[in-house]
Amino acid sequence: MILVVNAGSSSIKVAVFRPSEGTRLTEVMAGQVSGIGGPLAHIDLGTDDKDIAAPDHDTALSAIMASLTAQGIAMSDLTAAAHRVVHGGTSLVAPCPVTDDVIAGIEAATPLAPLHNPNNLAGIHAITALAPDLPQYASFGTAFHATNPDIATAYAIPKEDRDMGIRRYGFHGLSYAWIVTQFGDALPDRLLAFHLGSGASLCAIHQGKSVATSMGYSPLDGLTMGTRSGAIDGMAVLRMAEIHGADAASRRLNKDSGLKGLGGSNDMRLLLAADTDEARFAVDHFCYWAARHAGSAVVAMGGLDAVAFTGGIGQNSAPIRDRIMAHLAFLGDVPVHVVKADEERQIAVDAISCGAGS
Ligand code: ADP
Repeated sequence: MILVVNAGSSSIKVAVFRPSEGTRLTEVMAGQVSGIGGPLAHIDLGTDDKDIAAPDHDTALSAIMASLTAQGIAMSDLTAAAHRVVHGGTSLVAPCPVTDDVIAGIEAATPLAPLHNPNNLAGIHAITALAPDLPQYASFGTAFHATNPDIATAYAIPKEDRDMGIRRYGFHGLSYAWIVTQFGDALPDRLLAFHLGSGASLCAIHQGKSVATSMGYSPLDGLTMGTRSGAIDGMAVLRMAEIHGADAASRRLNKDSGLKGLGGSNDMRLLLAADTDEARFAVDHFCYWAARHAGSAVVAMGGLDAVAFTGGIGQNSAPIRDRIMAHLAFLGDVPVHVVKADEERQIAVDAISCGAGS
């Protein structure tokens, strides 16, 4: 069985999969520890639903392993642990077994994702401490976009800055990889995929490969999101940094903007239900800019054969899908698909493709 670990700043989500016939995977158990580092953490896994002490990721993963064991899944039943790593930088561009070199690569990419990569590394180290011989694998949130051509990833800035790694990387890659996995042989040639959740992005997928995506150097760029501004002129960012200071400007752009900044809430359900001008404007902005960026992605693919929606909004809100598609009606009728996001399953699929046994 494969244990998938998705370590965030204060939570660790896990899922256990048993490979069954062919490439199919059966989810045996899934859950999480939340509140890591706080006064009281909480485990919600299988039949466990209780407060625990988890001052760090090591203790949280120990609690997860103890809970799995108590529920009949022993460490010795596991054949692999597979981790989500948010940023692979320029060198880690495909799922791979975790080696010392890979750990060094994740550390090297940490300045690009200072809030995320250290947690992902903590998850890897915690498993190493608990089960030194268990093979581990990593899947990178940026890797799916490694196929974008240079012309799509380069910012037109001085070479010295480009050489420092200031370029577009793109995110939500595991979600897009899962969409491609789900289509299998029926994958449309030119697919426009929207991941619309708290974070929102889109991806131009041509013959199964990402050729353009809306997020850039960081997940701030592109579509209007729950609390992130989406695309904004760099000079406007610099002005906000002058006014508020760099850290506060970053907080405002990442945590206080987007639907929350325009409509007062980052919850699309609330905004759709609210009868206020602000809420209506926030929803209009979200749909309009999703479609504006979609136009750019369609150019990158030279046309459009189908659209796929995923993420909490993309999967659940037909009105939002319809409104975005109404903006794109001039492109003609194309099939619209809804795909349930399942990054954990993609991480397990990746580990198996790298040789993880069952
Ligand atoms: P995360 O990126 O944190 O995983 P999700 O993918 O769960 O987030 O997406 C969260 C968003 O999905 C929220 O804005 C929430 O309001 C929205 N959402 C969930 N269900 C619906 C629904 N039925 N209609 C509209 N929006 C929904």
